[in-house]
Amino acid sequence: MIRLKTNLPGFFNELCEVVRLFLGPVEIGEAGEGEDGAEGDALVVHTHAEAGGVWTERVTGFGREQALTEPAGGEGLERKRRLKRAVKTAAFLLMREVTGVNPPWGSLTGIRPTRILYELMGEGLSMDQARDAMEKRFFVHPEKASLLCDIAVMQRGLIDVSPREYDVYVGIPFCVTRCAYCSFSSGELGDGRLVEPYIDALIREMDALGPWLADQGLTPRAFYMGGGTPTSLTAAQLRRVLMKARELFPQAREWTVEAGRPDTIDREKLQALKDAGVGRISVNPQTFSDRTLQVIGRAHTAAQTLEGYALAREMGFGDINMDLIAALPGEGGEDFLRSLETCVDLCPESITVHTLAIKRSSRLHEQGYAQPGTDAAARMVGAARARLRDAGYGPYYLYRQKYMAGNLENVGYARPGFACLYNIDNMEETTRVLAFGAGAITKWLFDRERRIERAPNVRNIEQYTARVDEMIERKKALIGGE
Ligand code: SF4
Repeated sequence: MIRLKTNLPGFFNELCEVVRLFLGPVEIGEAGEGEDGAEGDALVVHTHAEAGGVWTERVTGFGREQALTEPAGGEGLERKRRLKRAVKTAAFLLMREVTGVNPPWGSLTGIRPTRILYELMGEGLSMDQARDAMEKRFFVHPEKASLLCDIAVMQRGLIDVSPREYDVYVGIPFCVTRCAYCSFSSGELGDGRLVEPYIDALIREMDALGPWLADQGLTPRAFYMGGGTPTSLTAAQLRRVLMKARELFPQAREWTVEAGRPDTIDREKLQALKDAGVGRISVNPQTFSDRTLQVIGRAHTAAQTLEGYALAREMGFGDINMDLIAALPGEGGEDFLRSLETCVDLCPESITVHTLAIKRSSRLHEQGYAQPGTDAAARMVGAARARLRDAGYGPYYLYRQKYMAGNLENVGYARPGFACLYNIDNMEETTRVLAFGAGAITKWLFDRERRIERAPNVRNIEQYTARVDEMIERKKALIGGE
C-alpha cells in the first residue's frame, strides 16, 4: 500500500494517477497530518508553496525528492489547469527517477491526448512547435507526438462543427455472451425478456426528444448505434429502432451500427440495416486466432468473421470497420501481426487497433491475467502503425484507457474519406451528443469555452425501462437553456 499526502487535496486524485502510471493499479491511501502509514507502506508527500511570484512543487518518496518551479499566475480555471500540470509534472519526475521507466505518453494521464495538442495550437503554436512542446513539457515520446500530429491532419475539415449540430447515440446494452476483457454494463441476452420493453423505452425517449430539438432549430450530424452488440437484437427489433431513428433524425449524414460480433450477423439483419440507410458497420474480429477467441470468451470463430464480412460486402456495404486488439492473452507479436495481415487483405475502409486494457470488473482481471510487458505491446502497435500506413490507412482518432497494456492507446485508422465523424466528435468533444438507452450519456456543449455538461441515463436495464420518463426530463432540463 502507498500512503499519499498533499497540501493541495484537490489534486490528490491526479497525484494517484501519476503514481499508478508507473506502478499499475496499486492501492493508495490518504495520509493525514502527522500520519506516515503502517510499517512497510511507502509514503509519497507533495507540498506546494508560493513565494515571490513562483510556485514550488516538491514531491518526496521512495528515498528521492524532486522539486519543480513555475511562474505563478493565471485566474480561475486557467490557474487550476496550470497548477495541476505543475503538480503532475513534479510527481512524474519523481516516479520516473524512482522506476527508471519512461512512459510513452509521458506525464499525460487523460484519455484524450489530442486535446492537449489542440490546446497548444490554440495558444498560437504551429503544429511543429506544438509537437515539440508535447515532448518537452509533457515528456511524450516523439513517435506518439508525431502520431497526434498525423491525427490532427486527418481531422482537418472534420472537427469544425456548427454549434447547431448534434450527434445521436443509441445504446443497445445486450450481448450474446460476455467477453473476458469486458467491463461494460451490458447484459447477456438470456431469454430476451428484457429486450422488447427496452426497445419500447428507447422509442419513447427518441420520440420525446427528436421533434423537440428539431423545433429548436438543431440538426443531427451523425447517428451511431453501439453497445453491447446492437446486432444481438432480432432483425425485426433492429428494423423497428432504426426506422424510428430514420424518421426522427433524417438529416444525419453518417449512419453507423456496430455489428461487432460476427456470430450475430445474418442476411435479414443486414437487410434491416440497409433499409434504414445505415452506411457504416463494424465487423470485429479482435483476433483471427480461434484459440484466443475461446480464451477471451468470444463465442465465434475466425471463419465466422470472414463469412460475416463477405456477406456484408455482397450486400453492398461500402464502409466497414474492423477492430483488432493487441496484447491479447497468449498472443505474441507474430500472432497479432498475422491477424493484422488478414485484416489488411480484406481491405475494410477502417481498422481500429486497440491495446488490451484489463479493467477491474473484467473476468481477465478476476482470473489474475498479467499484462504483457510494455515493450511487447509497444512493438505490436508500432508495427501496426507502420503496416497500416503502407497499406494506405491514416490514423484519425485516438483515445487511452486506464490499465492499458504498456500504457499505450487505441487508434482508429481509415482510408482517405472514411474517417468516422462520430468517433472524432466523441473523442474530441467538439459536438453535442444526444444519447438514448441504459447507461448512455448525453453531453451538451454550451458555449465557445467548451463548457460541457452531462445527463447520464441509469445503467441498469430494468431501471432504465421503468424510469424512462425521468431520463427524458433529465435531458430536457440539461438542454432546456437553448
Ligand atoms: S461484445 Fe463488447 S460489450 Fe459485448 S461483452 Fe464483448 S466487449 Fe463487452
